[in-house]
Amino acid sequence: MMTNKILPIFAILAVSMYSVKAQDAKPADTEVWSPIPAEITPGRANSDAPSDAIILFDGKNLDQWVSVKDTNSPAKWLVSNNVLTVNKSSGNIQTKRSFGSYQLHIEWKIPENIKEEGQSKGNSGIFLASTGPGDEGYELQVLDSYNNKTYVNGQAGSIYKQFPPLVNSSRKPGEWQSYDVVWTAPVFNSDGTLKTSAHVTVFHNGILIQNDAELQGPTKYIGKASYSKAHGKSPIKLQSHGDPSAPISFRNIWVRELN
Ligand code: MG
Repeated sequence: MMTNKILPIFAILAVSMYSVKAQDAKPADTEVWSPIPAEITPGRANSDAPSDAIILFDGKNLDQWVSVKDTNSPAKWLVSNNVLTVNKSSGNIQTKRSFGSYQLHIEWKIPENIKEEGQSKGNSGIFLASTGPGDEGYELQVLDSYNNKTYVNGQAGSIYKQFPPLVNSSRKPGEWQSYDVVWTAPVFNSDGTLKTSAHVTVFHNGILIQNDAELQGPTKYIGKASYSKAHGKSPIKLQSHGDPSAPISFRNIWVRELN
């Protein structure tokens, strides 16, 4: 049993051991020299793809995309003047490749003279991991949220039905907007149960709107989201929404895989 006399001796011993260690410590002790981060070449503008990005759409073709209805068929959205426009008759499209965690850049534009309101006004979406069939995946909402009232966890920049954006940094219809996304994929145990949730950080037009949000599961239109089904690497999917408004456009889409 420690007595009142022994305790201070322990304290003196601990302090003197610490000061001996602190004297021996050198700046180099806490320098880390390897592994050396890979050198990449950034794009000339911050929105341009850097040298290690996978280009998903550079204005020329949809070679990186397929139709969700038939993943053996090419995507049938419209490519013109370096811009990709939703073809509502052909449905959603998704990447040929599957991704785990990644950084994504994507630009989108609501048609200038859009007329509808609420969820019908320029609705699209980026499913950060497309986990279908059954689930749609995890939707980062695309919508005209410039003077357009709707439920806040369904406005532009929301993680649909889970997280409203921290601020509304929408530009006017007709102006190009950007999302920069850091997606941390969920991890599942071998028995299919969830090990770690998906997390997402999003910048909308350069403004932080989702700060490492921890997702509750893939997006659910009705009911509460949950991780009901394990999945691995998944495609990124773009939504062709069934509203009657004029279709929205995308450009300059690139992704960097994070290991
Ligand atoms: Mg949507």
